[in-house]
Amino acid sequence: MNKPSTRRKPEHSTVHCRDLCGGSTTGLWYRKQWNPARGDEIVDLSLHPRNRVFRGTNTRSLQEDLIGEKLLDSGVRGKRMLFRFSGDNWLGIHLGMTGKIRVESANFSPGKHDHLTLYQRKRALVFTDSRQFGRLRFHQGLDEPDWWKSDIPEIISPEFDRKFVGQFLDRHRKAPIKAVLLMQPGFSGIGNWMADEILWRAKILPSKRTGKLTGREHAAIFRATKFVVRKSLQTLGKNFSDPPRTWLIHQKWKRDGICPRHRTPLRHATIGGRITAWCPRCQK
Ligand SMILES: [Zn+2]
Repeated sequence: MNKPSTRRKPEHSTVHCRDLCGGSTTGLWYRKQWNPARGDEIVDLSLHPRNRVFRGTNTRSLQEDLIGEKLLDSGVRGKRMLFRFSGDNWLGIHLGMTGKIRVESANFSPGKHDHLTLYQRKRALVFTDSRQFGRLRFHQGLDEPDWWKSDIPEIISPEFDRKFVGQFLDRHRKAPIKAVLLMQPGFSGIGNWMADEILWRAKILPSKRTGKLTGREHAAIFRATKFVVRKSLQTLGKNFSDPPRTWLIHQKWKRDGICPRHRTPLRHATIGGRITAWCPRCQK
């Protein structure tokens, strides 16, 4: 059964929306693509469980518990969408940079980048993400999931911009910058090693008081944060390989760790409650 009528929309229509509407309305446009599916039951499901779009998600539960449930309704916030199913099941989709959702025919067979396909009797609901910066989350409960309620922007999202970072840094002027980078309401998902990597790239001393940072340093932190997170998603997600050899992380835990730039021995101290490594030559 070849069904040309159910082929996906031409690519240019999505590009058009993204370019003209910007990030904040992309989700609005995409969410509607699944509207025809409301009220219908999920009869089968296909996913790529080891894919990083499922990071932190119980894919087994998603696979077992969503089948037999009906799609009820959905909500959207920026590039995030939440789909509510019967039986207190919730599916969150963050489109990230390249995520898309669409509808295909019921006999659709998923391609390499179609990470989740929900089959109904009349159609298939597909989530595609060629670069896997998006995220799929599954939640069970009477109430909306906590991750939906919070307005904390993901670092790879357009909502995490210069203005947001500047305002967050200004609210924590007294704390050392290392401690501020570990604050999840501002730097969502940044852990200890990433914070050190960011400061090393931005050439800022981890113990420096946030209020003393210059505008240039704000900009450097913003750029380094985006870079480290984006690069980590690429390298850590792909075959679970390490970040590039030139990164600080490879030296951080060594007793005789050196700066990858000019081989100066690293220093270590506890800052913001966490072991911190830095290069005394590049970070001031
Ligand atoms: Zn150095």
